[in-house]
Amino acid sequence: MKLPVYDVLIIGAGIVGAACATACAAEGLSVGVVEAEIIGGGATAAGMGHLVVMDDSEAQFALTRYSQTLWQRLSAELPPDVEYEGCGTIWVAADAEEMRAVTEKRYFYESRGVPAEILDARALHEAEPNLRAGLPGGLLVPQDAVIYAPCAARFFIEQAQSRGAQLHHPRVVTEIAPDGVRLDDGTSIVAQSIVVAAGTWSAKLLPGIEVRKREGHLVITDRYPGFVRHQLVELGYLRSAHSLTSESVAFNIQPRKTGQMLLGSSRQFDKDSTAVDHAILGRMIARAEEFIPNLGCLSAIRTWTGFRAATPDKLPLIGPMPGYENLFLATGHEGLGITTSLGTARLLVDQLLQRTSEIPTAPYLPGRVYENVHA
Ligand SMILES: Cc1cc2nc3c(=O)[nH]c(=O)nc-3n(C[C@H](O)[C@H](O)[C@H](O)COP(=O)(O)OP(=O)(O)OC[C@H]3O[C@@H](n4cnc5c(N)ncnc54)[C@H](O)[C@@H]3O)c2cc1C
Repeated sequence: MKLPVYDVLIIGAGIVGAACATACAAEGLSVGVVEAEIIGGGATAAGMGHLVVMDDSEAQFALTRYSQTLWQRLSAELPPDVEYEGCGTIWVAADAEEMRAVTEKRYFYESRGVPAEILDARALHEAEPNLRAGLPGGLLVPQDAVIYAPCAARFFIEQAQSRGAQLHHPRVVTEIAPDGVRLDDGTSIVAQSIVVAAGTWSAKLLPGIEVRKREGHLVITDRYPGFVRHQLVELGYLRSAHSLTSESVAFNIQPRKTGQMLLGSSRQFDKDSTAVDHAILGRMIARAEEFIPNLGCLSAIRTWTGFRAATPDKLPLIGPMPGYENLFLATGHEGLGITTSLGTARLLVDQLLQRTSEIPTAPYLPGRVYENVHA
């Protein structure tokens, strides 16, 4: 039997693998994609779809800002079901101390070319009347946006296919071999380069890498158009997202184009079950009610969980894997993989084609963490 041969074989058709597939195909590379389940059905389907510039570190900022500008440029081409909505983010301060953090955050963004506007108590109330009275203010970052990520993943795969990419689906990669991959039906695929974009499953394929599951809960409500108008995130979210304790919750609510409200978010390490944990869900809703007292008037229609792929230093792994010939990683994006999928795809293609990237690649290279797990 003749084996398929590709320039690049991508394992995983979540938003990261799908973005890599379309970027590679656009460069004229022959591309194969193997997906075990539904396109965009992993963490991509579980996430909030907030396209957000973050300032936890210079490296995180560079990749999120780069990606956000790529999303903005692409937005006119996205099909309606991707639901791109430039609603902006308001980082909500809960007290005077957080209001000081708002000023610092604004300086960080503006000094790097990201528009950001401080809202005082009155401006915040006018922008979001359902927030509790008496909050001191917040920071509006108007260029942040929201999408429905599973449809974006499907769109990227269709774009790649229109340029000749082949989808092997549903098929599980069971082994990475020096010349390609083996599949669960016993067949093999030969490829010049292999890209592991398997999200939280990446460590199963490459047991030497450390990508840890970090569970999150979300709740979606019935339709209440205009209940909130921006993605609202408490400033304390950063503490929750970046704490290394096993459990945390933070207030985070998003208006969907459908008029529904999507409520997050929780973070839990070391959980394997996808079942809803009612204790942490209760904490998450109680936290949100501290910011939006009449939240309880909305009716929730679905609750679910998903797993983020967390790395030890909270930055993704993008680039060649030390110790392997032509094996690349595009994984470990934790809670920012929808935002950073487009930047990841650009950096990855640049490395495959040995070109210089528009932003420095060193902070994301797997070589920063791994020397030679294979040898
Ligand atoms: C609750 C929650 C909220 C989030 N909110 C946001 C947000 O607002 N903004 C943001 O930017 N990010 C957010 N994220 C993070 C984001 O969802 C992820 O970082 C992103 O979806 C990761 O995409 P991925 O393609 O790497 O992984 P996945 O979407 O998990 O895709 C991996 C794919 O690989 C396939 N696969 C695995 N193993 C194999 C194999 N052996 N063979 C073949 N196929 C295989 C899987 O079936 C899967 O489809 C959130 C995540 C969660 C859980």
